[in-house]
Formats: sequence, C-alpha cells, structure tokens
Amino acid sequence: TAGPLATVPDPRDRLLGGLLSPDFDESSCLSRYRAALYRRPSPHAISTYLISALRRYESLHRRCGPGTSAYARAVERLRASSPNASTSPSADDCSYLVWNPIEGLGNRILTITSGFLYALLTGRVLLLHSSGGALDDLFCEPFPGSTWILPEDDNDFPIRDMGSLNGGHHESLRSVLRRGEEPGAAGASPWLYVHLRHDYSKIHHDQQFFCDDTDAALRRVPWLVFQSDNYFVPGLFLIPRHETELSRMFPRRDLVFHHLGRYLFHPSNTVWDMVTRYHDEYFAKADERVGIQVRKFRWAPISTDELYGQILNCTQRETILPVPNVAATGGSDGQPTKQKAVLVVSLHGEYSEKLRDLYNNNNNNSGSTSTTSREAVCVHQPTHLGAQRSGVQEHNQKALAEMVLLSFSDAVVTTAVSTFGYVGQGLAGLRPWVLMNPVDGKAPDTPCRHAATMEPFFHAPPRYDCRAKTNGDAGRIVRHIRHCEDFPQGVQLV
Ligand code: GDP
Repeated sequence: TAGPLATVPDPRDRLLGGLLSPDFDESSCLSRYRAALYRRPSPHAISTYLISALRRYESLHRRCGPGTSAYARAVERLRASSPNASTSPSADDCSYLVWNPIEGLGNRILTITSGFLYALLTGRVLLLHSSGGALDDLFCEPFPGSTWILPEDDNDFPIRDMGSLNGGHHESLRSVLRRGEEPGAAGASPWLYVHLRHDYSKIHHDQQFFCDDTDAALRRVPWLVFQSDNYFVPGLFLIPRHETELSRMFPRRDLVFHHLGRYLFHPSNTVWDMVTRYHDEYFAKADERVGIQVRKFRWAPISTDELYGQILNCTQRETILPVPNVAATGGSDGQPTKQKAVLVVSLHGEYSEKLRDLYNNNNNNSGSTSTTSREAVCVHQPTHLGAQRSGVQEHNQKALAEMVLLSFSDAVVTTAVSTFGYVGQGLAGLRPWVLMNPVDGKAPDTPCRHAATMEPFFHAPPRYDCRAKTNGDAGRIVRHIRHCEDFPQGVQLV
C-alpha cells in the first residue's frame, strides 16, 4: 500500500522535494531554505503521501494553534473540570499534545519528533512547553502562520507544574487505567499525563499507551501532556490502527527521523550564524568533511588514551582518515591531492588535540600533513565545554550548532547510544560509523561498525505485549522492528 514516490530532490531545490512549506518569510529563518546549500543532498525520496500529510497538519495547526478562537475555547474547556462542563464539544474542536523538556538536546529533538509523529497520526496539535526558556532562540517555527510554543504569558494555563508531573499523578494514564476507568469517558478529566520516560518499562499501564484499544480511547481526551527521554517512534509502529497510514507516509521505515528531522528542526538565526561562521572558516575549502562525535558516558568508563586509540583504529582501518606518511616528510613530490577537514565535536578537547598533533607532526608547511594517500588533513573542534549544562541557553545553542555542522559531513563517526550523534547522522542522511561501547574499560576488539541504518534507537521499548496481555518482546512483534545489533535491549525500525 506504499504511496507513490516523489522524485529524489534536486540539490538546489530549496524546499527539499516538497518537504518544506514555501509559505515562510526567508529572513526570519535563514537556515530553513539555506541548509540545503551546505548539506549533501538527500538521496532519499519522500513519499507524496507524507508531503500531503504535512500540509494538512500545517492547516490544522494554523486553525487550532495559540491565538486562535479554537485554542481559546480548548483552554476554556480545560479550565472547566470535565470536557462537557461549560461548553459542549463540536466537530471542529481541536485536541492537543503538550511536550515537556527533559534531558539533553539530542533527547529533546528525538522526543519532539516522536510527539510530532503521534500528533500527525492522531490529529492533535503539538505544542512545546518551553519551560524556563528551554527553547528560546534555538529553533525556528516549523509551521507557517502559527507557533508551536505553548504561550508562556498564559500564566493561568490550567495544567500547572507540568515539569513535575509523574506517572502516579491522579490524572495520569497509569492512574486512570489502575482505577479501571476508561480514558476520555463521559465526565472524565479533559487532560491526561502520559509517562514515557525510560522507567515506564516496569509499569504495564504506562506502556499501554502503545496498545490499540488505549490509543483509540485516548482520542477522546482533548489534552495529552507527556514527558519522554526516548525516541518512541518505533512504538507507534507497534499500534495496528496506525499501520496503513505509517506505511504510506514512510515506505522506507528507516528514514523517519531523516525526513521529519529535516522538516522540523531549523536553527534560529543566532545558531545559524554560529554554524555558517564556523563552516566558512574551516570547511568551505575542503574537498571532504569528516565529522567525529566523541561522547563519554558515566556508565561506560574508558580512559582518554584508550578511547583515542579506538578512534584512530576505527578511522584508519575504515580508511576514513589516512595513515600519516612519516617517510614522506619534506620529500613529497607534489601538492596533496585532497584537502580533508575533520570536525571533532565533543565536550572534551583531548581527542582533537591528539589528532591534530598526529597529522601536524610531519607538517609540510601548508598547515596540514602529507599522508600515504596524499591527503592533507586539518582537524578542528568548535567548542569543548567540559560538562553538560542543558539548562543554559547558550550551551544548547552551541550543541545545536555542532549537531548541524556534523550533519554537513561527507562521513560521520559517532559514539554508540548517543542521541546527540543520532541527530547529526539523521540530519546528514548518513549511516554512521559507530564507536562501540567499551568493554570493562577497554576499547572493544571491533573499534567501530558501519550502522545498518541512520535511524535512532528506541532505547527503552515497551515490554508489555498488548495482545498477550503480559510481558513480551517488542523486537519480535512486527517485521520491521528489530532489536538493535549494538544495543540489544533497544529496538529500531528497519
Ligand atoms: P546524549 O546524552 O549523548 O544522548 O545527548 P544529549 O544531546 O541528549 O545530551 C548531551 C548534552 O551534553 C548535549 O545536549 C549538550 O548540551 C552536551 N554535549 C554533549 N556532547 C557535546 C558536544 O560534542 N558539543 C557540545 N556543544 N555539547 C555537547
């Protein structure tokens, strides 16, 4: 039942083959139509069905978004204690999904994407709660003529303290199901909190979000509020009632984030300025750009030397970086044939320093190194901020700028299980070389693997099998959702 494919977008096509709406003022968001000039063109076709679903969603958002009379009515009904209390619902009533920021920017981008796909499938309007200014001057608006930010000046927004909601709240899906009530039944609460943080995997009632009957019942609840730290897109593919729609939107299931990510996330002019300044200085003249994302997790300790060795081993073994040609120092018979710019993004500065030392040690006066393959290698790193500070605006702006720079690469090396890396590879449209997690503090024998797809992993999929009504295995329920090769407890779309 796959829909027809639009032609593969022309690289100069500023609307990315119809993915983007033409209805925006270009100066308000320079990156929207210009990123295509910097990024490799996507070789992946977009289904015309997805394009029309996006245009339909944009009209819905324009009709129901903040500032409209429909929105005012919906907030009014929310303020009343039950859906039918003050005004009776009508056919053109709108329903909403409210996202809340938790964890780092990579996680946030993936949960906004997951929420957006859920909104597309269920006819809801996605609104982002920019708690504490979490999203200020970070992204452009993705939907023309409207905003996706939940109004902050709405001090009397009826659902208070959304950041501190948890699965045990009286108005949570978990509590409603535990009480044996039907979500959205007559007289029930007009809003519910859905808990999709990774610890939900111990609680069947939270995971029933991914069951057909719960999904149907939730349609009747005008406001859903959620928190998640997971790319739960594959979970939506487990719900039978969305199967046909999803297969039409995504004939290639492993491209969901690639398409939706490039549709939704356009850096603000401030962030775009960081991106282009860096690009123009360091990458504009290179023949080839290699992005290396190095992330260290507390749960996967490894020493700097060991990890540096792993990066070198991986990049040289896979011929991503050349082997420096010590013997050729000064005796080279000509100019390098290729300029390779290496972008290292990391909280830590040591890896790019060591790589720079390596490639500059037998410097051939041009500031780069002769190598066996006569490639000149230059190594750059935009920032090394030391530690994660996801509550700080400038910190998030730099993180976004670096994800976007990573996405301009011709080849990417990422760290296993990092959502930061998933965003870079997905926007780039590249299958990354993944630096495998350390084993007992040591680099594994296979330093990196070429990922099977560019799709992010769903790290904590539901364990609850809706049909068997007991614990099951989300990696074995439908054909196109498999366990991740390198992270067996997770699943991914294939
Ligand atoms: P994950 O923890 O690797 O899955 O990625 P997240 O993006 O969710 O969280 C890590 C956060 O740490 C980022 O959002 C940044 O705030 C910061 N961070 C991690 N690596 C880098 C990096 O290479 N560059 C910058 N600027 N920030 C980073």
